[in-house]
Amino acid sequence: MNARHPAVTDIPHYVAGARFAGSATRSQTVTNPATGAVTGQVPLANAADVDAAVAAAQAAFPAWSDTPPIRRARVMFKFLELVNQHKDELAHAITAEHGKVFTDAQGEVARGIDIIEFACGIPQLLKGDFTDQVSTGMDNWTIRQPLGVVAGITPFNFPVMVPMWMFPVAIAAGNTFVLKPSPTDPTPSLMIADLLKQAGLPDGVFNVVHGDKEAVDALLVHPDVKAISFVGSTPIANYIYETGAHHGKRVQALGGAKNHMVVMPDADLDQAVDALVGAAYGSAGERCMAISVAVLVGDVAEKIMPKLIERTKTLKVLNGTNLAAEMGPIVTAAAHTRISGYIDAGQAEGAQLLVDGRGFDAKQAGEGCEGGFWMGGTLFDHVTTDMKIYKEEIFGPVLSCVRVADFGEAVKLINDHEFGNGTSCFTRDGNVAREFARRIQVGMVGINVPIPVPMAWQGFGGWKKSLFGDMHAYGEEGVRFYTKQKSIMQRWPESIGKGAEFVMPTAK
Ligand code: NAD
Repeated sequence: MNARHPAVTDIPHYVAGARFAGSATRSQTVTNPATGAVTGQVPLANAADVDAAVAAAQAAFPAWSDTPPIRRARVMFKFLELVNQHKDELAHAITAEHGKVFTDAQGEVARGIDIIEFACGIPQLLKGDFTDQVSTGMDNWTIRQPLGVVAGITPFNFPVMVPMWMFPVAIAAGNTFVLKPSPTDPTPSLMIADLLKQAGLPDGVFNVVHGDKEAVDALLVHPDVKAISFVGSTPIANYIYETGAHHGKRVQALGGAKNHMVVMPDADLDQAVDALVGAAYGSAGERCMAISVAVLVGDVAEKIMPKLIERTKTLKVLNGTNLAAEMGPIVTAAAHTRISGYIDAGQAEGAQLLVDGRGFDAKQAGEGCEGGFWMGGTLFDHVTTDMKIYKEEIFGPVLSCVRVADFGEAVKLINDHEFGNGTSCFTRDGNVAREFARRIQVGMVGINVPIPVPMAWQGFGGWKKSLFGDMHAYGEEGVRFYTKQKSIMQRWPESIGKGAEFVMPTAK
């Protein structure tokens, strides 16, 4: 733990509608990645703290799940209005603890708002199915009911948007929620809790516990937690899926990624270069939908490499509070070390290092940035599939270019990769685009769209090792995830025939 500075803020848990200190003895510092200054101290919850949050959520469940969906939707409408009023404060809080540039943080909040808007339609989304006269005098219908207490465990890279993939839908559907955000950037979760309270959400419906593996394990084994939504790295997603399922919970666990963008020879190459630099270096590559591999088909590499080198070298790497910034710092010193290690490995394995972000001078990022975790964009060419920088998720501003002869080779390369989150193909040929979308083994596909994050009503989820579980986040799959179907069959005494029936009932 770093020495405590007087400007350091304590960031408590939030339980039963109020800030909650908990009884944990462990805590973690929160740092502004642009300057390296410690700005907060966050407790790392123990099992008793998690118990308190789950108990609050459990106590709130009966009344909240009984509240008519239209009234739950009205709370969401009010929350939507408040988030819109405070969206720039949320974006500032993201930049201060994550480092991403302010305009990108504004985009993150906007994509979260989309999901709140979707959740406002919950009465329509919860409508059941009704079949009249399944047998003479008998009807059958289905309804969807909430699960109970559900938990969300979220990563550092979208401290507003990823929780909003989960709780608006879960809560609107009648569940109560425990959020375990990343302790790296915990402040936005408390701002969200305050706005939900102002919107009229009853105490205990939304709770926040900060923490690490200890808190997560307590949620995974807790008998009152009915479902877990997780977003983070693949090894932890796998662990959450297995452990949660073992304890009888419904689990959706979204994992890591290695997203490829194919550039076909007929593509508009200037557009492709713009797309590559934005999608590789935006948010310092710390997006699960970032493009980390450019698959350059035929003679594309020869044509675009000079432009890519130029654009990578001239990226505006600045403090995220500077509105001219294109890329901010790396989130933590540890992440900086990990990414630098990958660049070392790429060099050692024989990839051609065209632009090296490691030597970036922090002073160029702005005043006071000397202590921050700075790095420029890195560009590798002649990367091959056996290299560590190709196989593993780097989660930093490193773009690896792979050269292939034709479209078929590009598709095979992507389909052979263990991750399958997002991918993109830049082409002017409609048939190539169609074939790509149909044949690629990846959950989210862009055609001339580098980061094809589905809209709020479509649902988000990768394939292969990028998602453990059956249902994607948000959209109608999100509603299904947070509800269980009940089928009801009904008849009235006038329709009941005389005598006991010993054979399988069939339609009469
Ligand atoms: P992470 O896996 O380290 O942490 C995610 C969450 O799990 C955090 O809340 C963290 O506190 C908790 N956690 C960490 N270690 C744990 C352990 N040993 N046991 C139990 N819980 C643990 O991920 P991160 O570094 O915060 O985020 C980056 C990762 O998230 C990247 O791999 C990225 O691809 C992935 N991600 C995926 C998506 C997606 O939709 N597929 C979206 C965003 C981020």
